[in-house]
Amino acid sequence: MSDEPTIFQKIIEGEVPADIVYEDEQCIAFYDVNPQAPTHILVIPRKPIPTIDDVEPDDEALIGHLFRVASKVAHDEGLDNGYRTVINCGDDGQQTVYHLHVHVLGGRELQWPPG
Ligand code: AMP
Repeated sequence: MSDEPTIFQKIIEGEVPADIVYEDEQCIAFYDVNPQAPTHILVIPRKPIPTIDDVEPDDEALIGHLFRVASKVAHDEGLDNGYRTVINCGDDGQQTVYHLHVHVLGGRELQWPPG
């Protein structure tokens, strides 16, 4: 894994633009550039945690906060009939950006199981 700042770190630092829908002192949420559903938002911690495997005991409240924000942005987007949250981890999980993020997907009936 590279020591270079990830694209999400650059978004946090304002070096790369993003269409931000929510932010607070712990996290930000913005639209995915390559949406996989009519609504596709990413919720990311400001803290650069690479993967779910890197979550420490001190991060437990932060991880809970990410899911509360995921729910808030989903309902702010009108996803009142349901939506999906996804966290990809590692190569087999198809993680491409090594800064922990919660995908929030909705706006259509989603298939299960995922590919
Ligand atoms: P993952 O495959 O779980 O690591 O998801 C990374 C997600 O980040 C993908 O859905 C990408 O489309 C999305 N993404 C990559 N670069 C950007 C960017 N600059 N702004 C918004 N979303 C991005």
